[in-house]
Amino acid sequence: MYFIDSHAHINDEAFDADREEVIKRVFESGVYKFIEIACETKEWHPALDLCKQYPQQTAAVLGIHPQVAQTYDDAARALLDKLLKDPHAAAVGEIGLDYVFLDACPKDIQLRVFEEMLSLAGRVQKPIVLHVRREGEDYEPYDQTFHLLKHN
Ligand SMILES: [Zn+2]
Repeated sequence: MYFIDSHAHINDEAFDADREEVIKRVFESGVYKFIEIACETKEWHPALDLCKQYPQQTAAVLGIHPQVAQTYDDAARALLDKLLKDPHAAAVGEIGLDYVFLDACPKDIQLRVFEEMLSLAGRVQKPIVLHVRREGEDYEPYDQTFHLLKHN
């Protein structure tokens, strides 16, 4: 049996001390490929660098996490447009809505950037990776996600 890890954050600073060693263990354990998620602007280049290091065994997902949606400015837009053309860029993500940490980013900005990410994914013809999280029993972010997915 072969495994693909569909959602890795191996470029997280938690792995700064032993990243190569962890990657080695990943492949030794039977995972033959992992998908690195790069959902902040500063993570995009490192994710593609990782793919160049392990071209057959990795792919990158590039996007803006809802908690940092406010960082998606014109420079980020231009860069993401360019980097998504890289053949290692497999999808747009993780994108969505996170209403647990509204202090990090308010709903209106999350919604606007999520919608923009959806139309970008459509334009570059790549799949999306979602991150959607509710606060308590309020299911609003799921309803909004389904609505946006239906209309984009
Ligand atoms: Zn993630």
